[in-house]
Amino acid sequence: MLTTLTDSAEEAAVLLNSGRIVAFPTETVYGLGAGIAHPEAIRQVFLAKGRPGDNPLIVHIYSVEQLPDVASEINPEAKKLIEHFFPGPLTLVLKKNPLVPDTVTAGLQTVGVRCPANPVARELLRLAHCPVAAPSANLSGLPSATSWEAVYQDLEGKIDCVLRGQPSSIGLESTIVDCSGSKAVLLRAGAITLEQLQAVVPEISTNTNQNKLEPPKSPGLKYPHYAPKAEIVLCCPEEKRAVTPSSAYIGLSDPPEGVLIVKLCKNLEEYGRELFSFFRHCDSKNIGVIYCELPSPCGLGRAIRDRLMRAAGQQ
Ligand code: AMP
Ligand code: MG
Repeated sequence: MLTTLTDSAEEAAVLLNSGRIVAFPTETVYGLGAGIAHPEAIRQVFLAKGRPGDNPLIVHIYSVEQLPDVASEINPEAKKLIEHFFPGPLTLVLKKNPLVPDTVTAGLQTVGVRCPANPVARELLRLAHCPVAAPSANLSGLPSATSWEAVYQDLEGKIDCVLRGQPSSIGLESTIVDCSGSKAVLLRAGAITLEQLQAVVPEISTNTNQNKLEPPKSPGLKYPHYAPKAEIVLCCPEEKRAVTPSSAYIGLSDPPEGVLIVKLCKNLEEYGRELFSFFRHCDSKNIGVIYCELPSPCGLGRAIRDRLMRAAGQQ
């Protein structure tokens, strides 16, 4: 299949509206979109990524007016979160409208909904004739793509179009909060931090300790994620490790001696933004080990920590 590269949201929307699959920029990471009214396109999204069929897709909307098309119930906690954080890097899990195909939600009775803030994403969603299901635009298991070049590297020949935009300003996937039950639960940490969520919904919990007999609340979180080819070694700021040859480092404090490639970040925002593109860069240079400083689990540090632990196979 020929993958069209375009800067035109109009051109990308024409393809999307005719049942094609289109990657597009968002502030979190690039997404791979299919209109939810196009079952064959939804199937192609799973196929192109090599995504397991039991891992549901997040549905993207242009405006809160579309919420009833996707969700059947919006409880008071969800309403507050929507008021504060839509549009933005927050996904809410809500009871689903029966019209949303089961393939999108992987058979769950709930649906993940997000309204992104990135202007290019918003233009595409405005022109789309229906809400757009879109997982991250990368091959399953690899680090998410935070630039159109990374999307093209993974998915060229497998998808119809890449709508080019700037690199993602956040670089980490959305925060996911489950609002489908009696109490809001943080399922995945992201740029909307736990502290920010608690300021709006104080009773939100992070307790995802589930009865093992129940289906997992967020099926995608059971799969290995975000992993580059290189081995990920987590380190604390004060640790000075013996460094393996052909290694790299990313973090906020000084690197161990002898690493070949160093990404020293000024703050957590830069760390989050650069993490996945650094992983991909290291793979392109055949780096064997990437040392990653583990930030403390406060603010954005919680999301970075989560991605690092998963990349290291520790979660
Ligand atoms: P990705 O778009 O690749 O970042 O992955 C989407 C994430 O959202 C996966 O971890 C899914 O398990 C999660 N997700 C999507 N829909 C739901 C849902 N209805 N309930 C719980 N988690 C969901
Ligand atoms: Mg993903």
